[in-house]
Amino acid sequence: MWFRRDLRLLDNPALAAATEAGDGSVLGVFVLDPALLHPSGAPRLAVLYRTLRVLDSQLGGNLVVRRGRPETVLGALCHEVVAGSVHCAADFGPYGAARDQAVAQALPVPLVRTGSAYAVPPGQLTNASGANFSVYSAFYRAWFARGWPEPVPAARTEWLPAGELSCDGIPADPPLEPGLRLPEVGEPAAGQAWRAFRDGPIERYRHDRNRPDLAGTSRMSVHLKWGTVHPRTLLAELEPRHEVYRKELAWREFYADVLHHRPDSAREHYRTELAGLPHPSGELARQRLAAWAAGRTGYPIVDAGMRQLLSEGWMHNRVRMIVASFLVKDLHLPWQAGARHFSAHLVDGDLASNAHGWQWVAGTGTDPAPYFRIFNPSLQGQKFDPAGDYVRRYVPELAGLPASRIHEPWRGPDGLPPGYPDRIVDHAVERAAALADYNALRGTRS
Ligand code: FAD
Repeated sequence: MWFRRDLRLLDNPALAAATEAGDGSVLGVFVLDPALLHPSGAPRLAVLYRTLRVLDSQLGGNLVVRRGRPETVLGALCHEVVAGSVHCAADFGPYGAARDQAVAQALPVPLVRTGSAYAVPPGQLTNASGANFSVYSAFYRAWFARGWPEPVPAARTEWLPAGELSCDGIPADPPLEPGLRLPEVGEPAAGQAWRAFRDGPIERYRHDRNRPDLAGTSRMSVHLKWGTVHPRTLLAELEPRHEVYRKELAWREFYADVLHHRPDSAREHYRTELAGLPHPSGELARQRLAAWAAGRTGYPIVDAGMRQLLSEGWMHNRVRMIVASFLVKDLHLPWQAGARHFSAHLVDGDLASNAHGWQWVAGTGTDPAPYFRIFNPSLQGQKFDPAGDYVRRYVPELAGLPASRIHEPWRGPDGLPPGYPDRIVDHAVERAAALADYNALRGTRS
């Protein structure tokens, strides 16, 4: 069983297939593939290694972990243990799909792909004219109508001992920023987090999910990223009244489907109309990006979000949208720069959801909404963090300010609190500049 982004034993169709093919006996393998490790930031690597440690203990210490190109590592292992077949879940990402093809060709035994990280695997749904979906609402209807199988029963696997086999071992955590608080990971932690959400906050999800000051969302993204839980397991436990939550899970499936059809959209505009927008360059671009990344823009909700990312490897969805809009529309930097920073720091960093989350905000993605949806950071803060508790949690310089001032600290009679930066740009001015750039671009096209 070649584990990848499915680091669990329950509801794991690939593991069930491996167990059946091996008459119960299975060797568990994870390949530390430099091509995937290289672009991952330290927080995500630490989460991966911690998850692997949990999985290894679930396997009685028998997880074989080797470093190298998967086709080489697995080819050698097949000979060493005289494997009959290699099992994994299908991967639909641009790199994973190509890698699996290479592995399938290189192995001396069949590579059997069973299941995927999605309730409905990417590439399965088409509209009436046979094309894939580019609009979420239509995708959602087709996705829900199609449905998904029930979770598969737990496999009765006997793990083959790793004892005699050489193993590179699970690496120690990479150096992490002091004070970084990472979530508890691994399959048991995923189950616990899910039950805590399912047995309470889910009932208020549709009211609270946009409030970063409340613990209103499930925090399942890191578990879905590493497959310590399958979305099918979650979907199976939802009641009809939980449709808003089901719809959020469907966004993840939609973006995976879009990326499957348009692998270039991981890094390029999905829609190219805005390709000619001007961006600052040189020292100005560098300074703006650095201030944004450090949470020192002078806009409290933006700074709180960026500091939450640095201190937890996670950021609330509403705030991801606000900080992304600020980078693209107020600082006029390309969405790819923001996506790279997110990818380096998010523990749930996922190529499809990240690239398309950014493109949605930048106006270059699947959402047909026009470019002129520009979030006002002060108003967003006042609306979604009304008492200022979220800002106070992550921006201690502002902790003493009342709710009436916390989202616009520059308005006070005594000036800014010590240590808090002045605004690096004026939102009203930059909003007008963004719209002027947009109109100029449209003018050149028409
Ligand atoms: P909940 O609100 O509890 O939602 C449940 C699950 O639904 C999430 O775990 C996630 O799997 C899925 N989901 C919810 N909203 C979205 C969405 N907009 N797009 C895709 N899936 C969604 N999500 C990632 O998993 N990885 C990323 O790298 C990522 N990058 C993002 C970048 C930007 C600019 C934006 C705006 C959003 C991004 N998202 C990403 C989506 C979303 O912000 C996170 O999935 C969510 O905040 C995770 O927290 P949660 O598990 O508590 O979410």
